[in-house]
Amino acid sequence: MQSVTVLGSTGSIGVSTLDVLARHPQRYSVFALTARERVTELAQQCRRFAPRYAVVADEKGARALREQLAGEAPGTEILWGVEGLCRVASDPQVDAVMAAIVGAAGLRPTLAAVEAGKKVLLANKESLVMAGPVFMQALEKSGAQLLPIDSEHNAIFQCLPQPCADLDQAGVEKILLTGSGGPFRTRPENELHRVTPDEACAHPNWSMGRKISVDSATMMNKGLEFIEACLLFGARPDQVEVVVHPQSIVHSMVQYRDGSLLAQMGEPDMRTPIAHALAFPERIGSGVAALDLIARGRLDFEAPDARRFPCLRLAREAMDAGGSAPTVLNAANEVAVEAFLQGGLAFTSIPAVIERVMKSAEPVELTGLDAVETADRSARALAQRALEELS
Ligand code: NAD
Ligand code: MG
Repeated sequence: MQSVTVLGSTGSIGVSTLDVLARHPQRYSVFALTARERVTELAQQCRRFAPRYAVVADEKGARALREQLAGEAPGTEILWGVEGLCRVASDPQVDAVMAAIVGAAGLRPTLAAVEAGKKVLLANKESLVMAGPVFMQALEKSGAQLLPIDSEHNAIFQCLPQPCADLDQAGVEKILLTGSGGPFRTRPENELHRVTPDEACAHPNWSMGRKISVDSATMMNKGLEFIEACLLFGARPDQVEVVVHPQSIVHSMVQYRDGSLLAQMGEPDMRTPIAHALAFPERIGSGVAALDLIARGRLDFEAPDARRFPCLRLAREAMDAGGSAPTVLNAANEVAVEAFLQGGLAFTSIPAVIERVMKSAEPVELTGLDAVETADRSARALAQRALEELS
């Protein structure tokens, strides 16, 4: 029996994770559930899974959850704040932690799970991108096992021999990172400045939270994933190529020296990578139907349009610059995306904000968590200024 903490249990990944866990009650029990808002949903999850802990944002949220539960789920203790999140991510009784909080807010709890040597299922790519070397050093030091949930990285992981300490030794030439191109792949470019948040969040293949949906529409999601791939697999930037694949059936590929190209395919449903990572190296049911290739009919591939998607270039530049540049890229993107979602920034100004911040931020070395958080904070301040200038 494995005890699992689900950070961000009310989100898109959190709900899919609970769906998979519920299919295997003999194998998994839920140790903790966490959410920032949507207390009613969290209360329902607590009644259903009876976790040892539930974690909310603050004391007010804790009161609201207690009222909602009204004595049901009596075994569930309510905690709050980052401290509560870190506690349930690192508790000695926990075996696995699903890191599915969105954005930089996930950094401390995810790192707490890594430092405590847990099996960490990483959906929260922002925490890895923003803290790169600090995150990887913590991983090495604790010996925690990191399993990628991002469908592309989970696919790459599945296409590599395991364990794989060195891509060259494994005969790998390249990683082909696939991306659908999002909802605006073929939209006339002169219309992009007036697309709405709801249009940006209407992804053709995946149903996801709003922040990652906007990232998919700008292709910053692929930019973050490019950095994520370099870090997770020790790939050089020139070894990772982005390929647009509108159907989201091939989740990514690994090209070997002998001409072999291995792909992992499946329906676009996050329960597959979640089940894979939860059970690795075994395989369990996920609730996802087998892929019917004949019904699907065709798979298309094309090169990304660099002009339409400047975020891809910005992410490459950040990776090349190293140090705090990916931290700055991520922070500026989070601020710009939030402003777009609130109606305060044009879609096409998202990369403009990020580029301004990247040009003006002071580069620093990421020597530890403090340096990461300082770089994140100052990039957010610069992004606020850029927002005022651009809107
Ligand atoms: P979501 O917005 O649906 O859910 C986010 C969860 O995090 C919610 O439970 C929310 O309450 C919690 N949360 C948000 N802000 C918080 C804060 N400040 N403190 C504590 N908790 C907070 O997002 P999602 O789509 O599930 O994505 C979660 C993560 O997984 C993101 O990093 C995303 O990039 C990654 N991811 C998602 C998908 C997907 O299909 N949805 C695929 C790959 C990777
Ligand atoms: Mg992905």
